[in-house]
Amino acid sequence: MSNYIAPIEEMRFVLNEVVGLEDLCKTTQSDPSTVDIIETILDAAGKLAKEEIEPINKSGDLEGIKINTAGEVATAKGFKEAYQHYVEGGWGSLQFGTEYGGQGIPFVVAASIQEMWHSANMSWGLCPLLTQGAVEAISHNASEELKRRYLPKLISGEWSGTMNLTEGDAGTDVGALKTRATPEKDHYLIRGQKIYITWGEHDMVKNIVHLVLARLPDAPKGVKGISLFLVPKFLVNDDGSLGERNDLKALSLEDKIGIHACPTCVMNYGEKGGAIGYLVGEKNKGMQCMFTMMNNARLTVGLQGVSIAERAYQQALSFCKERVQGVAPGHTEAGPIIRHPDVQRMLSTMKAITEASRALTYSACAEVDRTAGSLPNKKLELHNRRLGLLTPIVKGWCTEIAQEVASLSLQCHGGMGYIEETGIAQIFRDARILPIYEGTNGIQAMDLVGRKIIGDNGLGIKEMVSEMQEYTSQTSPSDTLSTAQLEFFEQSIKDLAGASTLVLDNSDNKNYSGAIAFDMLMMTGTISAAWQMVKSLEKAKIAFENKTISSDFFKEKNKTVKHFIDFILPRYVSHFISIKTASC
Ligand SMILES: Cc1cc2nc3c(=O)[nH]c(=O)nc-3n(C[C@H](O)[C@H](O)[C@H](O)COP(=O)(O)OP(=O)(O)OC[C@H]3O[C@@H](n4cnc5c(N)ncnc54)[C@H](O)[C@@H]3O)c2cc1C
Repeated sequence: MSNYIAPIEEMRFVLNEVVGLEDLCKTTQSDPSTVDIIETILDAAGKLAKEEIEPINKSGDLEGIKINTAGEVATAKGFKEAYQHYVEGGWGSLQFGTEYGGQGIPFVVAASIQEMWHSANMSWGLCPLLTQGAVEAISHNASEELKRRYLPKLISGEWSGTMNLTEGDAGTDVGALKTRATPEKDHYLIRGQKIYITWGEHDMVKNIVHLVLARLPDAPKGVKGISLFLVPKFLVNDDGSLGERNDLKALSLEDKIGIHACPTCVMNYGEKGGAIGYLVGEKNKGMQCMFTMMNNARLTVGLQGVSIAERAYQQALSFCKERVQGVAPGHTEAGPIIRHPDVQRMLSTMKAITEASRALTYSACAEVDRTAGSLPNKKLELHNRRLGLLTPIVKGWCTEIAQEVASLSLQCHGGMGYIEETGIAQIFRDARILPIYEGTNGIQAMDLVGRKIIGDNGLGIKEMVSEMQEYTSQTSPSDTLSTAQLEFFEQSIKDLAGASTLVLDNSDNKNYSGAIAFDMLMMTGTISAAWQMVKSLEKAKIAFENKTISSDFFKEKNKTVKHFIDFILPRYVSHFISIKTASC
């Protein structure tokens, strides 16, 4: 089984050349020294991922987690220690503002680091992922008092955070939730049961801060009657020390297909009368507050797709170089299977979609930085629209391609792929949750079509299409792509505009919107990923001329981008046909 090596050269290229980190730091008032220290940050994170987080991936999968009758959860061997080193290294605080102990580094850089955690060990990486979302929700919505009391230790990673939406009868339909919140003095008493709570209980931190959706006694029905509460495992005293144990516990752990080392808990609140919770944001506006957390988590789940794809690709490449089988065309003796054209087809496909998903995800993460900066209003609105548009695309498209890459990697291993020993089976199993949690991909697709395209009368998608068209009109075909490749890319942009028009023209027909939503998501994802790939090639050419990337890197990028345009971009056509056919 191969060990994970962080693709630092590629990450640095996407950050520096494609995203344009230097300009991003200037326009967002992020710490400008990031550009100078990016190499050091990536190297140090890559080392932690490789030496401490990856080695407990398989053992964690085999060992799993244990719960006792008191509801205490013990994580697999080595998890606590790796987490401690993560906290000591300050890795949790990278992208947060300095007010509560963050380091003020752009989110897109933190995202590249998180990509490493999830590649190395998805179960482990989910704990920081949820904590980061909780920090976002508290920072944007909670009172100053709650921020002061909870943010520093969440930002440092000494405490972890969770997200509690789901109940037995309230999954996608969050509005059906029944957990109650009763006002009492300066707080609320929370009673109810939540299911599937990721890292809901564990032994890696001293306190866990649960963000729980619940209903007030007089709340309106549905999503308009949901409020958000901060419910700590241990109450926090005025001096910041830990106080009494709150009335909440993990009742049981789910036995899952994958991410075996990640505790997915059934959580009981208020068995002894009520867990103490504090209102975050306004009453009955809990869904808006939770969306701060969910939007962040949707992007980072998309990022998990990139991570899993990278890991699966690395593992396939390493296996295909070693496994000897048969005589490939042009050879006289049996050799490694990487020589076979069909194996090369699988590897090239994996590499192209993995790199495209990274460029697409980082470009969306950079929008998070732009929207957090102090841009003039009109620009800020544009970047908010772009971020909103890209969020369901990144979550949906990148987690769908992760399934494909994990499956292709398994296929490259032949029979050994189906045997647990190689480790690719774990990657395949772990990956399967990605299109499900954080809102299924069907729901992401409907968010894209309903809220992000129809909801703003097509403004966001039209802006993106225009920007792509402007970009291609300025790109000289002979420089990078062939004329035929560039023309095909241009055609795909025209078709995306056509598909958006169809969606808008049929906006009153909910049946139509629902039926084509997934095709629209995959079509938009494929074309926007192609755009990032075309940009990557252009930037690679400039970087090569400026000697900031090697000739080998440039050659590889050239090959990979062309593979994407020739073999992956054409996939959008079948989605477009479905969108057109359904409108007839
Ligand atoms: C391992 C794991 C970890 C999780 N972690 C968390 C967590 O930390 N916190 C948390 O709150 N939740 C968590 N979840 C819950 C997860 O977000 C939900 O499972 C997911 O949102 C889907 O809800 P559901 O399971 O009830 O499926 P359902 O809502 O029953 O959906 C079943 C199918 O029907 C489709 N469907 C449902 N409604 C609609 C609709 N209106 N339109 C179109 N299609 C629809 C869905 O797309 C899906 O394909 C986790 C789940 C798992 C398995």
